[in-house]
Amino acid sequence: MKVDLHTHSSVSDGKLSPSELIQEAESAGVDLLSITDHDTCEAYTNLRSLKSSSMTIIPGIEFSTEWKKTGIHILGLNIQLDSDAIQTGIKKQSEARLIRAQLIAEKLGKLGIKDSWEGVKKIAGESVIGRPHFAQFLIDSGVVKNMNQAFDKYLGAGKTGDVKQYWAPYTDVIEWINLAGGTAILAHPNKYKITRTKLLSLLDDFKTAGGKGMEVITGKQTLDVTEKLALICQQKNLLASCGSDFHQPGLSWAALGNVAPLPLGCDAVWESWNL
Ligand code: AMP
Ligand code: MN
Ligand code: MN
Ligand code: MN
Repeated sequence: MKVDLHTHSSVSDGKLSPSELIQEAESAGVDLLSITDHDTCEAYTNLRSLKSSSMTIIPGIEFSTEWKKTGIHILGLNIQLDSDAIQTGIKKQSEARLIRAQLIAEKLGKLGIKDSWEGVKKIAGESVIGRPHFAQFLIDSGVVKNMNQAFDKYLGAGKTGDVKQYWAPYTDVIEWINLAGGTAILAHPNKYKITRTKLLSLLDDFKTAGGKGMEVITGKQTLDVTEKLALICQQKNLLASCGSDFHQPGLSWAALGNVAPLPLGCDAVWESWNL
């Protein structure tokens, strides 16, 4: 079975519209798909059905939050989309994103990079504004050459545009997901640039707050990372999830549906659902 439980559409910072994404996933032979846009479930608004002839879609979202000053992402999978808790959460996060974006623009302005707010609003259009839109603005205005440089110099961890303090606490995020009948999963645990000890401590706190699982596979990753995460997942008695973190076609490290099988001994999160 081909499972991809972490993907982005143009409703946040992905390139394909939700319907294009679904079509692509079907062509890639995905059996179980979740569209997990950043802090929004807008991708599901116009979906007629969560089932097609070949694929089941699991309603999902990727929330931004913070644990002890480290920015982290939590996936809410198999959530009830009409849940009050999720809707309230989305509203709070969308306000936080707006304030954050204005602050990023202000901070860039102080560095002499003018008018990014207007520019970013134009680039994002109807999409939820995120740092990739700022990156695009920096590229378009010739400040940097590419996305990597934009994050390295201005937007990545510890840089001017890395503003975290407006997100809801991770405990609230997990509570929204649980109230919506969903499963809270720590996204891409290997991407936080924290020590193994800190990751274990993060997972303890995450579990205490009601978190249920972690991504063991995120896109294309090395075997040693998979083995390390699988071991931690089992030690902590967490459910295991997997996803590409697909944003656009053409990036081999995050190709849609191109997700290695979970290692033996991991309890797949989807086995815990009544599908
Ligand atoms: P935000 O949701 O506004 O915090 O932006 C985070 C998003 O930026 C991630 O989900 C990625 O899509 C993107 N991103 C983060 N780091 C990089 C990077 N180094 N290069 C390109 N895109 C990145
Ligand atoms: Mn993204
Ligand atoms: Mn993420
Ligand atoms: Mn993601």
